Amino acid sequence: MTQPTPRPLARSLDPLPGESLAGFLLRLSYRMGVTPHRLAMLCGLTCRSDSIPQEQLRGLSPEVAGQLASVAHLSMPEVQALTLQELTKTYPPLARLRTGRAADIGSTPFINWATNPDSRYCPACLRGDGSPVQRAFGGAWQRCWYLPITFACTQHSCLLESTCPHCAQPLSGRVVRRYSLVRTPHVSGLHPSQCRNPAPGPPPKPRTRATPCGAWLDAPGNAATPLPPPDLQCVLDLQHDLNLWLAPGRLHGAAEEAGPQTYFADLITTARLITLSWPMGATFLPSTTLMDLVDEYATPYVHNPARRGVQIQRSAPRGTAQTSALLLASATILGDRDLVPLRERIEPLTREVHRRSASIGDKLLKDSHASATLLRATAPRIYGFQKRSTSRASSKS
Ligand SMILES: [Zn+2]
Ligand SMILES: [Zn+2]
Repeated sequence: MTQPTPRPLARSLDPLPGESLAGFLLRLSYRMGVTPHRLAMLCGLTCRSDSIPQEQLRGLSPEVAGQLASVAHLSMPEVQALTLQELTKTYPPLARLRTGRAADIGSTPFINWATNPDSRYCPACLRGDGSPVQRAFGGAWQRCWYLPITFACTQHSCLLESTCPHCAQPLSGRVVRRYSLVRTPHVSGLHPSQCRNPAPGPPPKPRTRATPCGAWLDAPGNAATPLPPPDLQCVLDLQHDLNLWLAPGRLHGAAEEAGPQTYFADLITTARLITLSWPMGATFLPSTTLMDLVDEYATPYVHNPARRGVQIQRSAPRGTAQTSALLLASATILGDRDLVPLRERIEPLTREVHRRSASIGDKLLKDSHASATLLRATAPRIYGFQKRSTSRASSKS
């Protein structure tokens, strides 16, 4: 016998543009004065006692989507827009995750740069736009803040934050070994912009609930921006470009011919080549600040061969400054992806990765889903051609 669908709530909220499912739950539960867990139960989003499964951020089953729509007075397109589902068209790592092995879906949604385990955030976005509804319940927690390639807010010209300024923990939904859409989901009364991580200090006594940190994440001037203004402008320009690649409308017209499906695969593959051949790619960064950021991230892989295999599979940088520096180098190397200049830039990196470990280099490119152009630019058999073209060039001089 099927369960009767719960009655629609007496009142709801309109989703904000770009809002995530977690953000919507936080705002609506705060408005209703119930716990996020209670609201998630009513909306069919959980039957677990301790968590609200985070994988639902990537897409909802038709039954759950229908129940959420009817209980919270939403249209089906509004429900879909709370998840990352639409972005699978423009951000292929998400699409591969959805069709990947069951083990990948359940335990490691962070494989291959698909998602972050926690949400980054922009304090100014969380403060809202000053409208009555946003003054009362805060701005949107954006769904894009879960993507490793989203490291900055172009509206407020800042890097995103990835930890709470008070407890210094990531805004992670991790509950024991599961990931939940919301941390401490049984606590009510916290504003959506307050940290829900367990408060720092000794762990709670058995059978008592953790007290949340409660710090305000939307306070201005919480963190000093770690990038000097010229570097910040470079990475903001990059974020602006990446947002265009991510926009659903990008799939139409000329951009389709240019291969939007492969842009992010090329960007991530090149980021891995930079990491595994570091510091060879340092020359593609405009400042020592940015070089130092990639250095912090790449050095453990360079000095620990056992970790190089791990790098092929996952491990986007957690910090937004490191991510921005690594992707800036990657995007600079890719340029407009014309084969000949691309090969000139990327061939030394490929060669160095193969020199350090031929098997890792082969596996990285084989599993990359990169464009035919990038694969040609990095193919080992190109070396002979490179040598011939180099000798032709030198014989002319
Ligand atoms: Zn912002
Ligand atoms: Zn905190």
